Amino acid sequence: MTKRTLENLAGLNRKFRAQVEKFLIAAEPICEHHGITIEIISGLRSWAQQAALYAQGRTKPGPIVTKARAGSSWHNYGLAIDLGLFAGGKYLDSADPKRADRIYRELGALAASMGIEWAGLWKSFPEGPHFQNRFGMTLAEAKSKMESMNYDVQKIV
Ligand SMILES: [Zn+2]
Repeated sequence: MTKRTLENLAGLNRKFRAQVEKFLIAAEPICEHHGITIEIISGLRSWAQQAALYAQGRTKPGPIVTKARAGSSWHNYGLAIDLGLFAGGKYLDSADPKRADRIYRELGALAASMGIEWAGLWKSFPEGPHFQNRFGMTLAEAKSKMESMNYDVQKIV
């Protein structure tokens, strides 16, 4: 695993992290079959980071990259990751998005079988690289829990 993947794993809620580690191991045959490697390119995002991302394309320059305000992304709870696929040193998501899509579909099916939700199936704003686990909570529940737990992602589940 790369330094970036390890750093992103370290920021996650422990329960989700354990699940993600199992998922990455289970995904190895898919990676080998397609000749790719997987990185976790984003994990925990602080509420301030999320607010800055939300501003991009709205009140700040740049393209819109998220529809989630601070506290409304599962990244803000350490319960979501974004993957990146790499082949021959190239970032497949932009070098060959169709191929990346096909691989995400396989990864999404594997994730679902392990209790991880794949955002590639979302009807509005589907995100192939995004995987999460709500642990049965609604966002409102997660929000009030986070506030009462002093924003400690280790206490959310
Ligand atoms: Zn994401």
